[in-house]
Amino acid sequence: MSLCIANADILIDTAFRHGTVLIENGRIAAIGYGDDANALKMRAASTVDTTGLALIPGFVNAHHHSYANALRGTENALPLELWALYTVAYGRNIDEKLLRLAILTGAAEMLRNGVTGVIDHSPPVRRGPASFAAHVESGMRVGFAPFFHDTHDHDLLGFELPATLRAGVEGLGFPPADLVVDVFVQLATANGAGRVRVLLGPNAPQRCSPGLLDLWARLRDRHGFGSHTHLLETRAQAIACARHWPDGIVAEMDRRGLLDARLAVAHGVWLTPKERDLLAARGVTVVHNPASNLMLGSGVLPAADLRQRGVRMGLGSDSANTGGSADPFELMRLATMIGRVGSAWDSWLDAETAFAMATTGGGAAMGLGGEIGKIETGRMADLVLIDLAGSASTEAPSVETLVRHCGPACVRATMVGGAWVYRDGKILAFDEADIRRELADAAAAFRERCTAELAIAREAHRVFDPQLRALLGV
Ligand SMILES: [Zn+2]
Repeated sequence: MSLCIANADILIDTAFRHGTVLIENGRIAAIGYGDDANALKMRAASTVDTTGLALIPGFVNAHHHSYANALRGTENALPLELWALYTVAYGRNIDEKLLRLAILTGAAEMLRNGVTGVIDHSPPVRRGPASFAAHVESGMRVGFAPFFHDTHDHDLLGFELPATLRAGVEGLGFPPADLVVDVFVQLATANGAGRVRVLLGPNAPQRCSPGLLDLWARLRDRHGFGSHTHLLETRAQAIACARHWPDGIVAEMDRRGLLDARLAVAHGVWLTPKERDLLAARGVTVVHNPASNLMLGSGVLPAADLRQRGVRMGLGSDSANTGGSADPFELMRLATMIGRVGSAWDSWLDAETAFAMATTGGGAAMGLGGEIGKIETGRMADLVLIDLAGSASTEAPSVETLVRHCGPACVRATMVGGAWVYRDGKILAFDEADIRRELADAAAAFRERCTAELAIAREAHRVFDPQLRALLGV
């Protein structure tokens, strides 16, 4: 299959150039300018004239929890440790049918927003195979990282709770290690050169027992999986981790050989300068989630400092019910702005850095550095057509204009692996109207199913609230 995208303003590295891109077998086969462009058109089976549009690499949402697309509207004004009680209560009642609808609802939003790749850090391993199938259906490029963990936050944080409430909060308990192995072995056979690639998704290192951390390393070594995990997202976690690991949780991960270039960690808000240096030295990617970190009051990642220390960074929207919409334009703008207050301006993140985080940085987090994130011969054709006229800028097309003045409304078409998945206002990868209808039909029964667990969450909230305040001194 071959296709020419002709007469576009193509983003090559950080500058736009007028030319034509030839796509063959899902990859960028050639880029031509002037007379060379005509030769490319002759080679292609079909040509699309994109005069007046910009062609950019697709964005990567490098930290997302797809199941939470079924939890839109459940937002509250609580920090992570209390917010999680409600999210877990809802999450336990998401069956495989609703999970598929959540995955495709998120995919529809992201494809419309120019996001071609996503790391889905969810759901629990027991729902892994069904979710894998839904991701294949989505048309997106996916780093699929099903959760596993075996340590409760309330134990880590040292919270007291009555036995009956403990039983309610802990529910059915964690999937046994055997099941974790079974699911990843099963997923490993489906893994390969396809759009959906499996990553190990330990929920967070502090939520894994020493035995489970060993299993993480073993599965990684046996199957060659990359890994994705949360790391030091909140101050409460930082306090609790310092109590359990006097040298720090990052040093513990390093001691176990878990820090490597195929690991991406989400948040990292409370990393110490020494820990940032260690992550830089090991080639770990830190995924910045500026909207979610603000929504949950978790803090502001010192992204400029991480950059100066040489830490590779991606950009993520996190859950739909913490970060709001999965809008890479909003996230890029936030990433450049939130670190500025009170800091010297020569360190401020600029638009090009934020754009790189949302493209090449995310590609590295997915384990696809060098394969996606740039328009370059040989890379996968994960591309987005943008109408820069929407920016109404008097300047020549630039990354600055793209980041500051464009948004989802400027996205005209989205392509993954050489196939159009969104074009002219319509999702082409699957029937979006059907998904919306099915989701609306499933909503009332889902809310009903959650009632009993939400009552437990409210009780746990009442019990944990003063203990969290005492831990944080607020
Ligand atoms: Zn997260």
